[in-house]
Amino acid sequence: MKVPFVDLHAQYLTIKPEIDAAIAAVITESSYIRGPHMEAFEQAWAKTVGVKHCVSCANGTDAIYIVMRGLGLKPGDEVITTAHSWISTTETITQAGGKVVFCDTDDETFTIDVAQIESKITPRTVGIIPVHLYGQPCNMEAVMAIARKHKLWVIEDCAQAHLACFKGQQIGTFGKAATFSFYPGKNLGAYGDAGGLVTNDDQLADWCSTYARHGGKGEHIMEGINSRLDGLQAAILNVKLPHLRKWTEARRAVAARYNELLAGLPGLRLPQVAADRDHVYHLYVIRTDRRDALKKHLGDAGISTVLNYPKALPFYPAYSYLGHKPEDFPVAYANQSHILSLPIYPEITDAMISYVASKVRAFFKA
Ligand SMILES: *Cc1c(COP(=O)(O)O)cnc(C)c1O
Repeated sequence: MKVPFVDLHAQYLTIKPEIDAAIAAVITESSYIRGPHMEAFEQAWAKTVGVKHCVSCANGTDAIYIVMRGLGLKPGDEVITTAHSWISTTETITQAGGKVVFCDTDDETFTIDVAQIESKITPRTVGIIPVHLYGQPCNMEAVMAIARKHKLWVIEDCAQAHLACFKGQQIGTFGKAATFSFYPGKNLGAYGDAGGLVTNDDQLADWCSTYARHGGKGEHIMEGINSRLDGLQAAILNVKLPHLRKWTEARRAVAARYNELLAGLPGLRLPQVAADRDHVYHLYVIRTDRRDALKKHLGDAGISTVLNYPKALPFYPAYSYLGHKPEDFPVAYANQSHILSLPIYPEITDAMISYVASKVRAFFKA
């Protein structure tokens, strides 16, 4: 048996008539850039998250960059974020003119360790970017309490956590703004690059929308950038959005099945979910100090696994200028050699899950 890490084609087959019709409609109407499909998606996504505005853009990375420009980041401004994320979270801080300040993760949830955030705050700190990594919300109560106390803004990076909740409140509704990626493999994915930001702030939404579209249509009130959601991607997202809750439930069911089948293996740590959090399992990440051997064992059995991510951000060459050492971020540093993401997607079959679990069990029993 072969088990891919994700199977986007399997999902396409479940909604093929709707997708094909949506694509044909965009081509018939020539509504390639902006247009009614984009407007419909912005409204539907804002409603789904429970915020006033969604400003769509070209990808989830641009969304973070655009919001930070909108918040008026100035050279030397410091932004605190997690040591364990995809580089979009931090490259955009630098590109928007700020300084990246890393914080270690907590050992249970892989998200920013809220107990350490205050020790990173200086007079130059302006904001915090918590990342709901792998689909599990950060402790947003603690993040928001710190932000209020020190008058900092919060941008939630929700790229991996569509529909996840903290204490019953949907992520993306806590901070000043939140950003989403609709990259094909994300929990809600287009068939190309796509992204968006959400906020309840009328002025911020207006500024971001203008900035992302060359600083204004007709009248350029400033120099902007070109970051647009195209009509085909918007039409595809409009077809997929009504299925998102069902797909999220399916991801949770896959995770529950793995939890059941992989329980009690010495040397293996399964994902932990902190109290009051609804995990949406963008990724199912296990930990073992025999990670590389397990990855090879599964690969030999036809099972694809991924490292999300091979290194914690401070230890990539891109951040060597900060001069960090492993002991600065002991949890993120240890995780980089222990984590392994198992195949998870809504359409994975129970036979595939059982096969993966049996191979993992065989590895630990040998
Ligand atoms: C995917 C991702 C992004 C960026 O999204 P793109 O659409 O690929 O630009 C940002 N942050 C995190 C945590 C992500 O996983």
